[in-house]
Amino acid sequence: MYYEGLDKFDRVYLSKVFTDTEVPEGVLGMGNVSYGGTGFFYDRAPSLPEEAEHCMTDYHLYDRWVQEKLDAGARRSDFQFYLDYSIGFLSRGCFRKCAFCVNRNYDRVCMHSPLEEFLNPERKKICLLDDNFLGHPRWKEMLDALKRTGKPFQFRQGLDERLLDDEKCRELFSARYDGTYTFAFDDVRDAGLIEKKLILARKYTDVRLRFYCFCGFDREDVWDGAFWRDDVFGLLERVELLMKYGCLPYVMRFGRYRESPFWGMYVTIARWVNQPGLFCKKSLREFGEMNGRRSACFKYLDDFERRFSEAAYFYDLKFEKVCALGADGRGEES
Ligand code: SF4
Repeated sequence: MYYEGLDKFDRVYLSKVFTDTEVPEGVLGMGNVSYGGTGFFYDRAPSLPEEAEHCMTDYHLYDRWVQEKLDAGARRSDFQFYLDYSIGFLSRGCFRKCAFCVNRNYDRVCMHSPLEEFLNPERKKICLLDDNFLGHPRWKEMLDALKRTGKPFQFRQGLDERLLDDEKCRELFSARYDGTYTFAFDDVRDAGLIEKKLILARKYTDVRLRFYCFCGFDREDVWDGAFWRDDVFGLLERVELLMKYGCLPYVMRFGRYRESPFWGMYVTIARWVNQPGLFCKKSLREFGEMNGRRSACFKYLDDFERRFSEAAYFYDLKFEKVCALGADGRGEES
């Protein structure tokens, strides 16, 4: 409905973050419409002019839309980022050049905005969108600025756990953090390093940590049967390692997982893992059985195990047994 009447404006600026966000037909072709952002151009999105990039965020842009949703009975918590948070980037970019990432053309992490540029004193929390905050040499200076506000803050993107050291652990885990610390564990080949840093992190905190686990992306661009099998096992191996240290995986699937002969496994594992209440109580096998022997997810698990008997080991892993912290390890997840 907010696309109605666009022709009445001299200029309309349209942006989107995600490629799968729909824009009604004809809008992009209108003479008064300019559009940009990663949702349209992915890693080739042109930068905004400096004066647009570095102006104070208009936190009232969505007021009318949010109010309509609330009036219609929506939960306030579903709109908390519109209502309660100052949102911005302290740094941008990354040096890792992951092939699937919108940041793959960057060479390093750069300072982006000073905190005061997007901090609204009336908002009680802060949300950071930084791509790889810990990868900037001045991370501590930025973290200190966040701490000085006295407001709880969170990093929305997965932090780079591989960069943790004693100082970073001490500073990060003593902060007034908002919600669950979230890191990324995108590649099973990093398992050794991830585990080393988990051991380090556990010297400083026993709260539940969450890890985004990206899957369904072949870095060598070989989308054959062996890749799909190994990718599923790679995901299960990451889940096991995270269980061991009392961490919660969160499965994120690259769109091409749908091409996999085992696409149902990705769906089933994600449904199990991404519901922490279930994940902490039930093994993957129990999760399948809970859905019923006639359910699609039971069938996917059964088919996969018939083909690859070694899957049984992973199916029977149970968080409360594998987790070194015990099933009650502290955390904020409900
Ligand atoms: S580490 Fe994260 S931000 Fe950096 S390139 Fe890889 S996916 Fe992107």
